Amino acid sequence: MMSYDFGPRHPLKPIRLARTVTLLKSLVSDVEFIDPGFATDQDILTAHSEEYLDFVRTVGDGAASKEDLFRFGFGSVDTPPFSGIYEASLGYCGGAVQAAQQLNAGAQLAFNISGGLHHAQGEWASGFCVFNDPAISLALMKKKFKKLLYVDIDLHHGDGVQAIFQDDPDVVTLSIHESGKTLYPGTGFVEETGAGGTVVNLPMEAHTTGDVWLWAFAEVFPLVIDSFQPQAIVLQMGCDAHFNDPLGHLRVSVQEWMSAVRIVKETGLPILACGGGGYELSNVPRMWAGAVMTLSGLEVPADAPKEIPSEWGVDKLFDPEPLERGHGLGYAQEVVSFWQTKLS
Ligand SMILES: [Zn+2]
Repeated sequence: MMSYDFGPRHPLKPIRLARTVTLLKSLVSDVEFIDPGFATDQDILTAHSEEYLDFVRTVGDGAASKEDLFRFGFGSVDTPPFSGIYEASLGYCGGAVQAAQQLNAGAQLAFNISGGLHHAQGEWASGFCVFNDPAISLALMKKKFKKLLYVDIDLHHGDGVQAIFQDDPDVVTLSIHESGKTLYPGTGFVEETGAGGTVVNLPMEAHTTGDVWLWAFAEVFPLVIDSFQPQAIVLQMGCDAHFNDPLGHLRVSVQEWMSAVRIVKETGLPILACGGGGYELSNVPRMWAGAVMTLSGLEVPADAPKEIPSEWGVDKLFDPEPLERGHGLGYAQEVVSFWQTKLS
């Protein structure tokens, strides 16, 4: 997982994962860590084409043509190939497979720390994402659960997962994100539909504050649960909607984001939680460690344990109460009432 690394100037830094593990270990003494090993080619093929998998297997050698690099999504600075990218990607997806197997065996909660690569498409890489681990988790969980809900609270639209499952009537994808009008990947509008209304998108305008973001989520999430009645949830917990994150323009605080996680937990359904985006290094460890505690029913303390180095900037696990509220409410109300009409 730590070798899934696009280089020192790329925002997706492996240290995010290491710091999350360290903080979580220091906060919760009996958290169980499992080394998931590697995903297999068979696992990858549950969400990707054979042609794409074959390309990824050799793209790290540096011999691919420019045309093929662009065709398979490796032609931009966002997702550049590196030596060992195939093995690192299989390692990165190992947690998706192991966590799905745990849920299929009856676990109520599993957290795939390295997961959340929601932009990868079935036949090409996109937006830092080579293989779509949430889609792989969902595909494997279909062996046990008839109806699955994918919930995505990342700053960005969960476009890859949506595209892979949009014609599957047994998987609903729900994504709340900054609108595609102002942010990559430029999709995720309310008009996008899937088989039998299985695609639900909540786009928020740039600069929307966390109170509005949380209100919209809290309004629509129960409607999706009631109308679709899923048996398990895959929760993508990208934390880049935070107001400090360098990649976007939403203004969500740690506690508002955590409230969305709590709303998902309160369904009582089995949850496979994974990571996702999050590029401000003091946010990722405290938001993911806090989310795991929240999903486990543990109270998150106000302060990080003393042994955590102060230069990580995580000594306060929550943010000060936000001063600005109500931004983006008009557009959010339109989006929410669209779904209220459609789902109730
Ligand atoms: Zn993101």
